Amino acid sequence: MKLLGLIGGMSWESSAHYYRLINQGVRDSRRPTASAKCLLWSFDFAEIEALQHAGDWARLEALMCDAGQRLAGAGAEALVICTNTMHLMADRVEAAAGVPLLHIADPTGAAVRTAGIERIGLLGTAFTMEQAFYKDRLTQHHGLEVLVPEPEDRALVHRVIYEELVSGMVRDASREAYRQVIARLIQRGAQGVILGCTEIMLLVSQDDAAVPLFDTTTLHAQAAVQLALG
Ligand code: GLU
Repeated sequence: MKLLGLIGGMSWESSAHYYRLINQGVRDSRRPTASAKCLLWSFDFAEIEALQHAGDWARLEALMCDAGQRLAGAGAEALVICTNTMHLMADRVEAAAGVPLLHIADPTGAAVRTAGIERIGLLGTAFTMEQAFYKDRLTQHHGLEVLVPEPEDRALVHRVIYEELVSGMVRDASREAYRQVIARLIQRGAQGVILGCTEIMLLVSQDDAAVPLFDTTTLHAQAAVQLALG
């Protein structure tokens, strides 16, 4: 079994799910007492989100590369960044650490294609929905047409992530608001929707949508298990 290096704490609410899902996956694939070999670098998310909202991506890249190097130095054989947003610098983290990185958009894009879907909605932070790094990966590597919500809906999705979900707050009113955002994406032609922030699965489940939902936390964790077990 490969030793996985998880870069998490963004937020720890979703990292806790990663840890459980990865261990459950190894147990299910091997035997009841088996569990994952892994290292976890867990950031203080208050520092991370302050730098994100200040637009200090150079500092964030330095912190992420440092985390990757520390994990590789401690023996990690593959890296897993436990957030969609921070894949913005995934290539640089992989190069700095010198070990392969499992990009979250790849198992996600593959699952969407396996479902026979070509036009996919994307929910996530404003950084993920508005910048090119994530949408381009889905388009260029997986041949998907990506739809993001309209500006007002993007602001709502972003606000709920940073003001509620990363702090473990799960509100019925926000779930209803997300349902409506998803419904508007479907009206515009989305055949499925990617939950492209690792905390959205705390709020939304398949019952909240009339099309297939793709939870990046679960898909990424499952792919990490496959990678670890070869
Ligand atoms: N976990 C979130 C994501 O998947 C947001 C937190 C972050 O900015 O890293 O994008």
